[in-house]
Amino acid sequence: MRPAGRGPLESLYFNYPLFEAPRAAELEGLGPRHKVAIVGAGPIGMTAALTLASHGVACVLLDQKETFNDGSRATCISRSSMQIFDQIGVAQPFLEKALGWRFGSSFYQGKLVYRLEMPHSPNDKFLPMYNLQQQYVEQFLHDAVAKCQLIDMRWSSEVRSVTTPTDGATLSVTTPRGDYTLLSDYVLAADGARSPMRSFMGLRLQGDNYEGKYVIADVRMAHDFPTERRAFFDPVSNPGGTILIHKQPGDIWRIDYQLQDGEPEDEAILEATIRARVGAIISEIGHLGDWDLEWWSIYSANTLCLDEYKHGRVIFIGDSAHIVPIFGVRGLNNGLADAHNIGWKLAYVLNGIADEALLDSYSPERRGATLDVFANASKSTRFMTPPTRGWTLMRDAALSLSVDNEFARPFANPRQMTPYTYGDSPLTLASTAGDQFLGGPVVGAACPNVALPGGGHLFDKLDRGFVAIAFHDGTADTEVEATLTVLAKLDPNLTAVRIGLDGALADQDGTIARAFCAVPGTLYLLRPDLYVAGRWRSINADEIVGSMQRCLGGH
Ligand SMILES: Cc1cc2nc3c(=O)[nH]c(=O)nc-3n(C[C@H](O)[C@H](O)[C@H](O)COP(=O)(O)OP(=O)(O)OC[C@H]3O[C@@H](n4cnc5c(N)ncnc54)[C@H](O)[C@@H]3O)c2cc1C
Repeated sequence: MRPAGRGPLESLYFNYPLFEAPRAAELEGLGPRHKVAIVGAGPIGMTAALTLASHGVACVLLDQKETFNDGSRATCISRSSMQIFDQIGVAQPFLEKALGWRFGSSFYQGKLVYRLEMPHSPNDKFLPMYNLQQQYVEQFLHDAVAKCQLIDMRWSSEVRSVTTPTDGATLSVTTPRGDYTLLSDYVLAADGARSPMRSFMGLRLQGDNYEGKYVIADVRMAHDFPTERRAFFDPVSNPGGTILIHKQPGDIWRIDYQLQDGEPEDEAILEATIRARVGAIISEIGHLGDWDLEWWSIYSANTLCLDEYKHGRVIFIGDSAHIVPIFGVRGLNNGLADAHNIGWKLAYVLNGIADEALLDSYSPERRGATLDVFANASKSTRFMTPPTRGWTLMRDAALSLSVDNEFARPFANPRQMTPYTYGDSPLTLASTAGDQFLGGPVVGAACPNVALPGGGHLFDKLDRGFVAIAFHDGTADTEVEATLTVLAKLDPNLTAVRIGLDGALADQDGTIARAFCAVPGTLYLLRPDLYVAGRWRSINADEIVGSMQRCLGGH
């Protein structure tokens, strides 16, 4: 919602472009059969389209609207999401605009009780978190979509129904220029939390709704405070409740505050109420100057997801597949990981490198990640908005103890997102046998980046396919080389990285070997999304090739 007198797209800081529906070839009766249709050009649909395009796969991307999402919605982009943006070639504008951060403070009754410091090492290319309004996320992704010849972007194109024969899907699309039928081999349903695609297919989200309600308000104010996350428990301006505050670019601040028990929702969202409540919070944080109200909305936490994300050739990604509480910044980031995960898998199937069975690993991997988010988010949600008197007593006891006692302080941390390890994935299950490592990224984990001695990072050296990182002692090993040759036949896009041989990868001071806990003969196999598919302390050609074949949908 916006203040009275301002239209739904009249933002204080963002100019919404308006896009016309293109004249689709289908309207001329010329429509081709598409390889992939993506329903929904929110951040997740656009990221899926760009991931497919990075692997050379074309798609058609449909959105019912004529511009980006209204309101700032998601504000926090995690390091792993920045890594995804880097891989699809769009990280630069994010780095230029977004506000990076790694610290946070939690206050109880005005006293600092917890200081958050998110892990960050000199090897990291990106900070743990960046704040950026979702409109910019969508704009930067769209700038890349618009330039990409492989993406047929169609705004003002609403999908009204779907039928699903076994070899694909048929969508009926309504546009201001007329209606048409669109045929596609695969459909990615990225149509958001209310997902019409879910309804067309008779699917329902399962899970829990939490009782506590939050108001989310964005204000513009020249408030001189560093970019970090502030959480207030039982503050003067919201007695018994909580408040979260984040800085965004352009002097825009996100203020989330919990409604008081019994506070009627319809009154809480009146502009006058919002101004009074937000004004009190702004005074409490010591801002004395002017402020303007940009936008507000009301929110309650849900942990809801589909039982299965893949239904024949229709695959659900982002909010259409799951709705997670915003505490811990998981909604957007979790969806971006879905898009990247299905993007490479679908591209590998369509490029004829992998078997269609590979797609069956999408749902266990990404639904597993969502259930993990639920487990963490449920704890945060109960702490932020205790559901019962018992929870309130426990929360308040932990907070008051944390004023003077170190051991209780971590309770006051609204948990942040960390990448999920695909430990139980059908792609990684068997390859953990014989793991003799004492450190380094485990099988199924997101591979960490490494800063190279001459500048730049390891991931900058990679192409778009699988990656084999082989550790040498200065000379090439024939068995390793033979194995790399077999892997390159399985994936023509494989990057073979030979650490300890020459140039930037000579690793004279052993930094890279230490990061991977590697010795000469060690080999790591990474999937195209840079998760560890397998690792071997010493070369084992049969297992390595078997692991790669499993990651290509074999058994
Ligand atoms: C008020 C609010 C605050 C939020 N705050 C946070 C936060 O702080 N942190 C966080 O991580 N996340 C937050 N989120 C969640 C975050 O915004 C979503 O997770 C993210 O937008 C999901 O992206 P998506 O692409 O899956 O869906 P959406 O962004 O909803 O995009 C779906 C797209 O599908 C299109 N569409 C729908 N139906 C059709 C159809 N029939 N035909 C064609 N197109 C269709 C829509 O027009 C839309 O563009 C917030 C959300 C809201 C609403």
